Amino acid sequence: MSIQPPLRHLLSLQDLPRPALETLLNDADRIASGPSRNSSLRERHVGRSVVNLFFEASTRTRSSFQIAAQRIGADVLNFDVAQSSARKGETLLDTFLNLQAMGCELFVVRVAEQDVLQTLADASRPGVGLVNAGDGRANHPTQGLLDMLTIRQHKGRDFSALRVLLVGDILHSRVARSDLHALRTLGTGEIRVCGPQALLPGDATLDGCHVFDRLDAAIEGVDVVMMLRLQRERMEEGLIGSLDDYHRDYGLGAARLRRASPEAIVTHPGPMNRGVEISDEVADGPQSVILQQVANGVAVRMAVLDHVLSVT
Ligand code: ASP
Repeated sequence: MSIQPPLRHLLSLQDLPRPALETLLNDADRIASGPSRNSSLRERHVGRSVVNLFFEASTRTRSSFQIAAQRIGADVLNFDVAQSSARKGETLLDTFLNLQAMGCELFVVRVAEQDVLQTLADASRPGVGLVNAGDGRANHPTQGLLDMLTIRQHKGRDFSALRVLLVGDILHSRVARSDLHALRTLGTGEIRVCGPQALLPGDATLDGCHVFDRLDAAIEGVDVVMMLRLQRERMEEGLIGSLDDYHRDYGLGAARLRRASPEAIVTHPGPMNRGVEISDEVADGPQSVILQQVANGVAVRMAVLDHVLSVT
């Protein structure tokens, strides 16, 4: 099914209407459940050119965009920032304009600053699309989509009775922001958040959420526990105490998880700080769906690339 208006760029989940979000999830779910559909995707996109333009580190997102692009038959350029003229001071916009001039059609972009994606979108020619692969602490739309797909596969399409808890460093987390946009759009019954006061944003990010400072209370009876990485690279010194204190107060271990619904699932976007926000026992335990999230990442990115390339 096509999305209206067509998805020229995917920069954020904030303003993505529910039917568009659900179409992407339905498509990704079909892709995830069998490779049979991939041949028609390949027919449509073989030889199209996708660029991975990552100015921040990445393991999962970059490789899964690459795999997704290859599975739909596109040619992928993994732009190597460290070996590029970015090191000589060339701006990101100039880098983009040059690759666009070479005929690249879809740019998957990760940057530390949050307004850059819109600048590139404004500078994009007709026929060129952008997908945000993470912009600072603001958005990570494909992570939000893969998280929703994973929840849906376990809990069904109706989120209205679900209690979902996000735990940890929400202040610095683009994943949390994209998850919150999507959870609201999908009509989630109750959204809880829990973290140290210093890591909870004071703006509209948490509108409509139930905010807890004690994890033992927050986790009571929830259906989904979404753990977040402590983003020390974005953090000023002294925002939190020691890592041991953090683990004691906000870490998810097996005993704490028993307070959630017995069927609760546990997500984490990776990379995990094992022993800090999550114990090995939980990360590798039966309620963890962390590797399923990773697998869904490929399907979600195939669906997103399919839609954006169909416009460009
Ligand atoms: N990999 C995710 C991101 O790039 C989550 C994280 O790094 O904590 O935002």
